[in-house]
Amino acid sequence: MSESQNSVSDLRSALELLKTLPGEYVETNTEVDPHAELSGVYRYVGAGGTCQRPTRKNGPAMVFKNIKGFHDISVAIGLNGSRQRVSHFLRCAPEKLGHLLKESVASAIPPITVDNAVCQEVVHLASDADFDLRKLLPAPTNTEEDAGPYITMGLCYASDPETHESDITIHRLCVQSRDELSMWLTPGRHIDAFRMKAEAAGQPLPISISIGVDPAIEIAACFEPPTTPLGFNELSIAGALRGKAVEMVQCKTINEKAIAHAEIVIEGELLPDVRVREDQNTDTGRAMPEFPGYTGEAKAAIPVIKVKAVTHRTHPIWRTTVGPGEEHVNMAGIPTEASILDMVERAMPGKLLNVFAHSAGGGKLLAVLQFKKSSPADEGRQRQAALLAFSAFPELKHVILVDEDVDIFDSDDVLWAMQTRYQGDVDTVTIPGVRCHPLDPSQVPEYSPSILQQGMSCKTLFDCTVPFHLKHNFERSKFKEVDVKRFLPDFE
Ligand code: MN
Repeated sequence: MSESQNSVSDLRSALELLKTLPGEYVETNTEVDPHAELSGVYRYVGAGGTCQRPTRKNGPAMVFKNIKGFHDISVAIGLNGSRQRVSHFLRCAPEKLGHLLKESVASAIPPITVDNAVCQEVVHLASDADFDLRKLLPAPTNTEEDAGPYITMGLCYASDPETHESDITIHRLCVQSRDELSMWLTPGRHIDAFRMKAEAAGQPLPISISIGVDPAIEIAACFEPPTTPLGFNELSIAGALRGKAVEMVQCKTINEKAIAHAEIVIEGELLPDVRVREDQNTDTGRAMPEFPGYTGEAKAAIPVIKVKAVTHRTHPIWRTTVGPGEEHVNMAGIPTEASILDMVERAMPGKLLNVFAHSAGGGKLLAVLQFKKSSPADEGRQRQAALLAFSAFPELKHVILVDEDVDIFDSDDVLWAMQTRYQGDVDTVTIPGVRCHPLDPSQVPEYSPSILQQGMSCKTLFDCTVPFHLKHNFERSKFKEVDVKRFLPDFE
């Protein structure tokens, strides 16, 4: 890669960068139906992650240029769908991305406000009689049984009605009518805290939804507490990643800001005391495919956003993702890695070498920790590191601990450690009855007597590190160091 040419600052420059890299970008002019077909195509091309097989790991990002029923708008999917692409966007080696994000939290740069923004080149007001979200926005219905069209990459931005601190997060938004979206917030999310405060005061909460932005923002927005506690604006992490504050612009119809370079912005208000059934238009009982690889249930009563306006760039690019894909793994997982690295580093400096929030857990449920024991006194500290990891990211379910000679990004190598450095009866530690994530279908009372409510789980650590006093028995076979390029000049 030519690093000097990498100047990603919005979605368009990110796509331009991908076009210069072999195998990272494809596009099609063939008409595609956003209803189930678009996601059906990308499932094969590059979804990966926990997606239904067959799919492809590390397939290219894709742009659909001809969307059935829509003019002058294309759809981009899968930009963050490989760790290699994210490493190009963030100018950092793939295995160091967690460390980069950790450092960016520590050197956060708050967003600034600008007067004019490309995201407002075209303005559609909901007060106009012909305004209809369903005709303006090609939000895909991801499978035939989804509750409706979903905005899956909407950067939701709202502020605390009292402290005016802001938060940015991606939430599941379903288009419900010409000017309404339903919004599902998993319990404890920060925008939900703002919403509840506003609702208690009988007030609507202004909210902007920016779609199609610099991938650095998409990833930074996925940080969760305790790394980014209530009141921490995650946009400041994106600022640190770029060494430049994210530029915001005042919305046209609400008292809130939006991301200035976004392709599309939806302006609206979360209404107090209004709830809607997520699948009211389809009665499918299902929502959309979620990160663990299963379709979530449609919620019976969730908050509603009344849309006031849609603004966009000329020739806008819609941005979407496949819920169970590798894109979710990277967006959720790299911040998870940063959070674990940060907490363990503060407790025991230099011991935790690296972390991978593994694809099998969608970036949330499974982490592989690479731990270096240097002395007899380090025995047992690897398990303390695992306990800290469960605290650093509350939705983490499983930790696999490996030694410094295991490649945590190579599942064959991790499972090798499990075959030769793990005895199930002494190296498995279970912690039942702990809060985890409600979208894992095994986390239900019918599954286990220790699960009292949906969303509780048994957290488990698999210690696949060698006991320190036995290390001399576990040296891998050593091959001679050679210069392969002498035999194969193109070898990398
Ligand atoms: Mn937050």
